[in-house]
Amino acid sequence: MSVAQDLAAKTLNAVVVQRVEVSPGLAILRVVPDGWELTDFTPGQFAVLGLPGSARRCAVSDSEDEITDPDRLIKRAYSIASSSVAKEYLEFYVALVPSGALTPRLFALAAGDRLWLGAKVSGMFTLEQAPEDKHLVLIATGTGLAPYMSMLRSQLTCGGQRRFAVLHGARHSWDLGYRSELMTLDRMCSNFTYIPSISRPNEEPVAWGGESGYIQDHWQRKPLEAAWGFHPGPDDSDVFVCGNPDMIESMVEILIAEGFKEHSKAEPGQIHVERYW
Ligand SMILES: Cc1cc2nc3c(=O)[nH]c(=O)nc-3n(C[C@H](O)[C@H](O)[C@H](O)COP(=O)(O)OP(=O)(O)OC[C@H]3O[C@@H](n4cnc5c(N)ncnc54)[C@H](O)[C@@H]3O)c2cc1C
Repeated sequence: MSVAQDLAAKTLNAVVVQRVEVSPGLAILRVVPDGWELTDFTPGQFAVLGLPGSARRCAVSDSEDEITDPDRLIKRAYSIASSSVAKEYLEFYVALVPSGALTPRLFALAAGDRLWLGAKVSGMFTLEQAPEDKHLVLIATGTGLAPYMSMLRSQLTCGGQRRFAVLHGARHSWDLGYRSELMTLDRMCSNFTYIPSISRPNEEPVAWGGESGYIQDHWQRKPLEAAWGFHPGPDDSDVFVCGNPDMIESMVEILIAEGFKEHSKAEPGQIHVERYW
């Protein structure tokens, strides 16, 4: 056994069992632990994935300075997108950062390849932070959608009193991951609303009939009034925000101006934020 094979067998404790290409630079990875059990988790939490510096980078990534310790694991946090009920695998929605340390290596993986999956799952960005009698507005750009997929797949009761809305922004229609699943939920669940919006409609090969522009501008046009009959306010709804830092900053500012307050452990509020970077 070579040194690299030995390392893979010892530390790379999980296997990619499925890889779905959403668009260039966006992938859904399903990961299964090899010989150990996944822990219970709350939807919205994150796990940690890792690969050694010696792992190959995908072809479309930037080149990198020489790695000083090729055996050392490069580890990053990823929100779990799969249901907390599905215990046989964890699913992740990952964006390629071409200059990054880990994602170019994750994007070189195919089904059957091994990687490291941390046994611990953490995070406070969960629906437990919101009172049960409040409706939920889940706002994301890009892979910020991942925690919401886990929440919906585990905690949406179709036809229930509690309303859920997903507002998802991406550059192009082809970057709207999970769109078909969310459209199906929207059609089948009277209490679920899905509003995708794209920021570069003029690059679409076929005219885009949906919402366009930045999600924060879209919010100011009161996008849920048609489906819900009212614009969500701090008395009836909690808002979750995850994704691009500029979007988060603008959304928090807008929501505060509408009377919402950012949630913290010490001071409960109706705005819940997950910052990826
Ligand atoms: C709690 C938590 C959950 C996360 N969940 C996810 C997730 O579900 N999916 C996901 O793709 N990433 C997620 N991330 C980000 C992830 O941990 C890495 O930072 C990201 O994958 C880049 O890793 P890298 O080693 O390739 O880049 P690095 O070498 O670490 O470079 C970091 C830089 O990459 C950029 N960047 C980081 N994340 C993104 C992104 N998603 N899209 C565009 N640019 C980015 C930023 O400029 C950042 O400064 C999460 C981060 C945190 C803290």
